[in-house]
Amino acid sequence: MYYPEPISRLIDSFTKLPGIGPKTAVRLAFFVLNMKEDDVLDFAKSLVNAKRELTHCSVCGHITDQDPCTICQDESRDKSTICVVQDPKDVIAMEKMKEYKGKYHVLHGAISPIDGIGPEDINIPGLLNRLKDENVKELILATNPNIEGEATAMYISRLVKPAGIKTTRIAHGLPVGGDLEYADEVTLSKALEGRREL
Ligand SMILES: [Zn+2]
Repeated sequence: MYYPEPISRLIDSFTKLPGIGPKTAVRLAFFVLNMKEDDVLDFAKSLVNAKRELTHCSVCGHITDQDPCTICQDESRDKSTICVVQDPKDVIAMEKMKEYKGKYHVLHGAISPIDGIGPEDINIPGLLNRLKDENVKELILATNPNIEGEATAMYISRLVKPAGIKTTRIAHGLPVGGDLEYADEVTLSKALEGRREL
């Protein structure tokens, strides 16, 4: 072992983060050693608090520290439109655009038979419950433009159409295979504007 045990544990922790290779992990670990103790404590607290205090909104599934989330509680938003996304990060991407004034529903994944993920394994039952209680006129299906995202959009569309709910799919212009969260605001805004009915 090259490093004293506490440092190698810290290096291991950094290695678990996405995009952090072994060299970067070592660099970050030594950086932490040189930080002021108060800053290290604040950093550790932020990590633990983010994990402990955040939960999923019981209505829309978005990450929140209050339930229902601020978006669900906001009476000024248009309740008749729900934008369905795969990931909480997609809600944040949409909100940054500052154009969309409807509500959201976060699926936490997409249907993927190959991976054994069916409609019941993601937040589709939660969506169907909302459609029973809320007077929804349009579902904007903003799942990712890849096979799983398209399959999920088609599944939801077929499911809700008999109830007379309009379903639209955000327009292409989003890179195929690209995730919504990485789209810039202009691309996303155009994709939303150019949505087509399914
Ligand atoms: Zn919510």
